[in-house]
Amino acid sequence: APRYDVLVIGGGAAGCAVSASLLKRAPDLRIAVVEPSERHYYQPGWTLVGAGVFDCARTERAMARCIPRGVQWIRAAAAAFEPERQQVVLEDGSRLGYRALVVCPGLVLDWDAIEGARETLGRNGVTSNYLFELAPYTWRQVQALRRGRALFTQPPLPIKCAGAPQKAMYLSCNHWLRQGVLPDIQVEFCSAAATLFGVADFVPPLMRYVARYDARLAFSHNLIKVDGEAHKAWFAVTDADGTTRTEEREFDFLHLVPPQRAPAFVRQSPLANAEGWLEVDHATLRHPRYPDIFSLGDVCSAPNAKTAAAVRKQAPVVAENLIAQLVGRAPRAAYDGYGSCPLTVERGKVILAEFGYCGKLLPSLPWDPRVPRRLAWELKTRGLPSIYFDLMLKGHEWLAGPRRPDRLQLPADCDLVREK
Ligand code: FAD
Repeated sequence: APRYDVLVIGGGAAGCAVSASLLKRAPDLRIAVVEPSERHYYQPGWTLVGAGVFDCARTERAMARCIPRGVQWIRAAAAAFEPERQQVVLEDGSRLGYRALVVCPGLVLDWDAIEGARETLGRNGVTSNYLFELAPYTWRQVQALRRGRALFTQPPLPIKCAGAPQKAMYLSCNHWLRQGVLPDIQVEFCSAAATLFGVADFVPPLMRYVARYDARLAFSHNLIKVDGEAHKAWFAVTDADGTTRTEEREFDFLHLVPPQRAPAFVRQSPLANAEGWLEVDHATLRHPRYPDIFSLGDVCSAPNAKTAAAVRKQAPVVAENLIAQLVGRAPRAAYDGYGSCPLTVERGKVILAEFGYCGKLLPSLPWDPRVPRRLAWELKTRGLPSIYFDLMLKGHEWLAGPRRPDRLQLPADCDLVREK
């Protein structure tokens, strides 16, 4: 089997960013990226496509343009790991060897967990910004709706960009408000979670928008079945005493977000933790049992917000620690759990939620991060796409320089980071 210094599984946000960060530090490394897709997607843009702000063409690029020059692209899918032999098995049965491995194939959308969803997606007013193909349909349906019931769902966590289900609601409501039709539309946010947002500081400003749009909140409501033709959805509702019952809702418009899991070849591998995510030390992003294996992005087990923003900070940490590993030194960089969720609460304003492990606020700019701002909207719509494509994927570590493990500042009661 051909053997590389570094083998990277997945050429998404994480795979491209980490390869570029590695090459910046060690241009002679022999790196290969295993990635089956011809297209690379800027998924944070899909929220804006669903609101008519972006054309979907702005959110995709040829993969060949995103994988850094100097890195070998292997157009194939990984199927299994053989960590004892330092090899990865591809779907066609061939093998690739490595000195160090980075696993970052993202996560998979589990549509089969919602009975009837696949049959009706893209029809009957049922849509999802989580699919490139359907985000434009969201915008068409939002424009078409003038009265009736609009449902927005959120599955059990973790999911990528946990704010995205409610962002779809705020931007849709904002359109209906501007069109003067919002009073004729009953809006409901049905979430499997018990709170609106995981970081308590951001809940009060979000609640003000929920009130402004007169949206109903239904917590502990987990979507289990949908019948598009009949315009009905069913939720498993967990009551305070822990008993579960089924509730039915009618809808004219339904924005779905499915449960999300690690890909099967990760879940079934010796590298996974009990929940199926690729196990890493939360600070060093190194596998606890295989010191030559690292992971970042949506698939890794670190309990940060699964976002491209997190990848921006994780990539330099993995690059530092992986190179240390290759030269026989201990890991020397630590990840503080940074993630960011630009909450698009109205067209023209964003609450730029940036936070790390244990909900510690980590604003990049010296302002109160809880305030909805026009400048943050400009950042989301104009700045972040080029920060992503032109800086992050190219290894320019804008404001993302890794910290040393002993410099990590975490809340006193935060025990998420084990290895120091
Ligand atoms: P991905 O970017 O999904 O890439 C995974 C890659 O692995 C893909 O190219 C795939 O083809 C490849 N792959 C899959 N299986 C295999 C295999 N077997 N072998 C080899 N390769 C494989 N983030 C933000 O920062 N801000 C936001 O506002 C934001 N909003 C979002 C809104 C939506 C609607 C969605 C869907 C996501 C949003 N995100 C946001 C999240 C962000 O897109 C992800 O966190 C980020 O893309 C994760 O990077 P990744 O490389 O782990 O996964």
